[in-house]
Amino acid sequence: MSKERMVEARKLNKSFGQLHVLKDCDLQVDRNEVVVMIGASGSGKSTLLRCLNFLELEDSGEIFISGKKVDPRKDDLNRIRQQVGMVFQHFNLFPHMNVLQNVIEAPMQVKGVSKAQAIALAQELLEKVGLADKADSYPSQLSGGQQQRVAIARALAMKPDVMLFDEPTSALDPELVGEVLGVMRDLAKEGMTMVVVTHEMGFAQEVADRVIVMHDGAIIEHGPPEQIFQHPKHERTQRFLSQVL
Ligand code: ADP
Ligand code: MG
Repeated sequence: MSKERMVEARKLNKSFGQLHVLKDCDLQVDRNEVVVMIGASGSGKSTLLRCLNFLELEDSGEIFISGKKVDPRKDDLNRIRQQVGMVFQHFNLFPHMNVLQNVIEAPMQVKGVSKAQAIALAQELLEKVGLADKADSYPSQLSGGQQQRVAIARALAMKPDVMLFDEPTSALDPELVGEVLGVMRDLAKEGMTMVVVTHEMGFAQEVADRVIVMHDGAIIEHGPPEQIFQHPKHERTQRFLSQVL
């Protein structure tokens, strides 16, 4: 069976003022693939992810989602963002809504799903992330790990084709990291296509099909985790790994 390309970026460039943050970045993600992106702080990982979700607009280059080229200045970005879910470091839940409301909001408002259907799906997803009993709680009543699991359920409620995770465990107390990585591991096992920025090298080694290394706005190396972690080619990769491993 031929591979289905879900996300493709070609020669992406992005600057903020004088700062050239993404330099000719090429990226391909196939259906069911888990790609982990690593690299030092400031290397451009978040900017690259945000470009894939059109939260940032590239200056030049091309992005294809599910085989279709996206023109972010013309196409309906709300529709495209339904295909590409995103989970952030700082959960970004709606503080004035309870957990259930957080999860049903976008399907109802953006996709026009009926309330009954949205609730049924939300209950299923909260079950999946281990929070079925927290539907009535407010974000402030939850731990960071629970909030992040709600954020994952909320993103999944849009039934995305691809999930982007930007350091989803970096803001968590160490004892809460595992529960979030566990949910992500389950998703990967179910075949979700994922791009994950993380410093959790154990997760990367175990779950990634491919690891991408960013340095100073460029993808300097990519390959299967065994190759990147045991035989990194690039001196910058070796240096980065020696700092985080
Ligand atoms: P990473 O996620 O790898 O830490 P980022 O993509 O967040 O890196 O940032 C890459 C570079 O771009 C950094 O130097 C950062 O300060 C800069 N940057 C990111 N977002 C903006 C922005 N909105 N305006 C100006 N500079 C930015
Ligand atoms: Mg970042």
